[in-house]
Amino acid sequence: MGTWFVAQDAWVVMAVGVAWFSLLYLGTGALSILLAAVMQRFGYGRRLDPRPVTGAQLRRELGASGSSILVFGLGLVVPWGMLRLGWAGLAVAPSGWQVALEIVLLFFWNELHFYACHRLLHTRALRRFHVMHHRSHVATPWSTYAFHPVEAAMLGSVPLLPMLVHDFSFAALMTLPVLSIVLNNLGHANYEASARAPARGWRAASRRHHLHHACYHGNYGFLLEVFDRMFGSVLPLDAADAVIARQRASDTGARRP
Ligand SMILES: [Zn+2]
Ligand SMILES: [Zn+2]
Repeated sequence: MGTWFVAQDAWVVMAVGVAWFSLLYLGTGALSILLAAVMQRFGYGRRLDPRPVTGAQLRRELGASGSSILVFGLGLVVPWGMLRLGWAGLAVAPSGWQVALEIVLLFFWNELHFYACHRLLHTRALRRFHVMHHRSHVATPWSTYAFHPVEAAMLGSVPLLPMLVHDFSFAALMTLPVLSIVLNNLGHANYEASARAPARGWRAASRRHHLHHACYHGNYGFLLEVFDRMFGSVLPLDAADAVIARQRASDTGARRP
């Protein structure tokens, strides 16, 4: 598969890339909505932000995600070009253990890379590129790729540095965007899949990222809380309560005759 990928023309790589990221976005988004509906039906877990999501928000998220899919898909020529030019290589006949270990490494790298990019996107210099993602005060599975193209390019660069220092297996590299969108969906599901509230461990990622969308500052990490703990940016569990209550009160006031 890796040899096939490297042998293709640039336009084939880009077309496959756009199809691949479209499939990941639409497939995992639909699955996330379905799973939340089933869990809600059986009384397991809870919706986190009760504020309604408008049709305009969903249309904006789908449009912005479409442009990110183009950035990710067309951008696949960068790692392809690195392989063609010999700047990077692919592992030959890797063992199952090697693939598994590489996936674990890429997972941790993805968390660190996301945290660093996200902190940069919250600086005065770059925040104008991040406001598009934060227009969704209530996260939805369709906000997973709703980025400005500059943010999409920053986040999409995640495999490049590791590829320069190690010959990864093609399977591990292909797993990275799958892993990333699954975690992304967990963060943007606006649904806590846990019997107890607040959830603990990896299931707390939904609440953490919901708080980031509702409050803007704090909880910059993704699945792991470790970097937010390290840099003192953890949000308290009730951080969004006042914001949500304020908006609901103003909505109720606006509806009153
Ligand atoms: Zn942010
Ligand atoms: Zn988000």
